[in-house]
Amino acid sequence: MLLRLLLFVGFLALGVLSAEDFYKLLGLKKDASDREIKKAYRTLSKKFHPDKNPGDQSSHDKFVAVAEAYDGLSDEETRKIYDQYGHEGIKQHQQGGGPRQQHDPFDLFSRFFGGSGHFGHGGGERKGPNMEVRVAVPLRDFYNGRKTEFTVEKQAICSACEGSGSEDGHVETCDVCGGRGVRIQRQQLAPGLFQQVQTHCDKCHGKGKTIKHPCPVCGGSRVIREPETHELVIEKGMPQGVRISYENEADESPDFVAGDLIVHLQESDPQYGQRDHERTDGTFFRRRGKDLFWREVLSLREAWMGDWTRNITHLDGHIVQLHRKRGEVVQPNSVEIVADEGMPVWHEHLENNAGEQFGALHVEYVIVLPDQMEKAMEKDFWGVWEKYRKKHTVSLDKENGRPEGPIVMPTDDGHDEL
Ligand SMILES: [Zn+2]
Ligand SMILES: [Zn+2]
Repeated sequence: MLLRLLLFVGFLALGVLSAEDFYKLLGLKKDASDREIKKAYRTLSKKFHPDKNPGDQSSHDKFVAVAEAYDGLSDEETRKIYDQYGHEGIKQHQQGGGPRQQHDPFDLFSRFFGGSGHFGHGGGERKGPNMEVRVAVPLRDFYNGRKTEFTVEKQAICSACEGSGSEDGHVETCDVCGGRGVRIQRQQLAPGLFQQVQTHCDKCHGKGKTIKHPCPVCGGSRVIREPETHELVIEKGMPQGVRISYENEADESPDFVAGDLIVHLQESDPQYGQRDHERTDGTFFRRRGKDLFWREVLSLREAWMGDWTRNITHLDGHIVQLHRKRGEVVQPNSVEIVADEGMPVWHEHLENNAGEQFGALHVEYVIVLPDQMEKAMEKDFWGVWEKYRKKHTVSLDKENGRPEGPIVMPTDDGHDEL
């Protein structure tokens, strides 16, 4: 208790000393929404938590200041006062016995992440299970990089009762079990012979505590299910299936420190989109590691005679030009490797994918022969073929030494040595 009090006094003193703007502290604009304020608190309180920065006084001070800023801005009334009168206004409001008390910064932390306000490094605090989700984004996002958001539903500590489960904040120790959650009963087995049996306390359902007026929001369960939105930063060239961790963002409970939320980034199936940039050839590239694969269709004339150009639009809209001069033949199913037109190579620890290296684009040529022709055209082609067929007659059968008729297999006329 004394420690709490000291902390609290220190906290107030600090509030007076460091009058850094609440909005600035949380990295927010003046018109920030409640959601943004919460989000900023979640991020910064984890960053500056003393457990994470042992022995670092300035982190500790920041942690306290962030809690103070959150306290000031999360309440509609105090936020109004702060916006009008600043820190001085808040101070006077508190001294005047405002209805809302400031939180101890560690208490506040535990109301967001469960447990007792610590990460539990060495403190023996229980950490809840991790939560794994899949998020699928188009290949385009893996190529260009993108900042987006995703929403998951999770168990959150009820903010109406701040995780107490009680409407008025009163939680009483169960008078049946004395807070232990279990009862010892003596059963008589035979005259003079007793057995002690430990049973679950049915008044408090083993919790050891009872609540007279359960919180109307969570029904006394202390937690609710709610959607939470997270920012998702897809870096250029991230591999398919990469795991992105969000520390302490899994299911919350007052009984343990929230585990981590782990996102598996997947590639979604390619789709013809509505907007121009969703309809590029690149949308249908297939990816393997740092390389991309594409099939380009050529007509017989193009494959054989050359003199053609193809503009392939890549995932960021730039054009990869393929072409052949007259007389350059492309064989069916041959593969052209275009260097540096594959995926960006992901450097996990480099900012902005410094150095930008790329894999290759593999273009496989598919040749389509016409199955219909104008009569006159067919006649022309036939004529040309006949002319040259007669000039240089080549029989592949003869060259390969193939027989003109079927070969008769020998009948069983002897005894093979076994
Ligand atoms: Zn009980
Ligand atoms: Zn509640």
